[in-house]
Amino acid sequence: MLNHTRLDLAGAELHELEQSLAQLGRPRFHGRQIFQWVHRRGVTDVALMSDLSRELRAALADHFDLRTPSVARREQSTDGTTKFLLRLDDGKQIETVCIPESASGSADPTDADRVTFCLSTQVGCAMRCAFCLTGKMGIDRNLSAGEIVGQVRVLVRELGLGDQRFNIVLMGMGEPLHNYDETMKALRILADEHGMAVSPRRVTLSTVGVLPALERLATEPVMPNLAISLHSTTEAQRDLLVPINRKYGIEELLNVCRKFPLKRRERITFEYVMLKDVNDTPEDARRLVRLLNGIKGKVNLLPLNEAAGIPFERPSDAAVNRFARILSERGVTVSVRRSRGRDIRAACGQLITESSRADAPGRRLAMAMGSVV
Ligand code: SAH
Repeated sequence: MLNHTRLDLAGAELHELEQSLAQLGRPRFHGRQIFQWVHRRGVTDVALMSDLSRELRAALADHFDLRTPSVARREQSTDGTTKFLLRLDDGKQIETVCIPESASGSADPTDADRVTFCLSTQVGCAMRCAFCLTGKMGIDRNLSAGEIVGQVRVLVRELGLGDQRFNIVLMGMGEPLHNYDETMKALRILADEHGMAVSPRRVTLSTVGVLPALERLATEPVMPNLAISLHSTTEAQRDLLVPINRKYGIEELLNVCRKFPLKRRERITFEYVMLKDVNDTPEDARRLVRLLNGIKGKVNLLPLNEAAGIPFERPSDAAVNRFARILSERGVTVSVRRSRGRDIRAACGQLITESSRADAPGRRLAMAMGSVV
């Protein structure tokens, strides 16, 4: 039985390991060895840390846990995207996705040009965006830093990626800025040169815009890339699509973005889920251009991934292209997200680990939306 007050070696920063060893009356330098075993060599059992004495390994096992999510299910899409259902040590489940990209079209992550891991930060999500399946689950609990980093450890091992580099997007289940401390701690552990050394420049944090947390993020010494789930150009419509807008509206959100410290050439990505006949009109596009005026940003259009229980439709390619053209003609950089892994329900907004209730409120909402636009 795991004792949750015990330190999880897989969720500790190097200085915490050193401090815990010192408290046990052990030399601090073992902290670095343990950190390397866990994060660089991927061991899941202290007994395997062969350059530590047997006696020290026994003491570590007595005092600490080493927790690693287990793989409950693994599904592979025809496009090479692999979705993992992971079980945490309290039995809760989350989903994590690996998205390989390669010019040759190969579906094998070990010879992809670029590999992106899409990580979860919470079990479920409290944000309840109207078009997102994860939001239907509601929030169960936050993930610990060890559980966020654990997703990466499991993916590297399961996919046999070795030292291959990868990017990370915090775009799985959950709202990262609603679990600020553990998310930022996970990024520090991932960035540590004694472990996986994932530079924050290769990490993108996506958020609906929890403003106090976003302002705090702006003061961090090292920062991931920022993506904002905007999705709408009017307060009234965003109130319905992204309910946190009722608390932190578009205007305030964009003011914080305007002041957000960006290095040369860095830009904020604005994600915009496209919903047929709801937010996909030329007028929406022109309003979006005006809203983003003066912000170093770019737009990523996400044509809706449809799912049962989601009361919206995906717009036609023609409508998406028309929208994109209006932005680009007015000098806004725009891309369209090609959705990956839809056949295994691994695409944006499709991660869900429990069956949810039938969606009568959602349908009412869709009808209300019609009258707003
Ligand atoms: N909570 C964070 C992280 C989730 S990121 C955030 O909202 O930014 C997942 C991205 O996919 C978000 O931009 C989200 O709005 C988008 N998304 C959710 N449901 C979707 C769907 N059905 N189709 C396309 N994109 C969706």
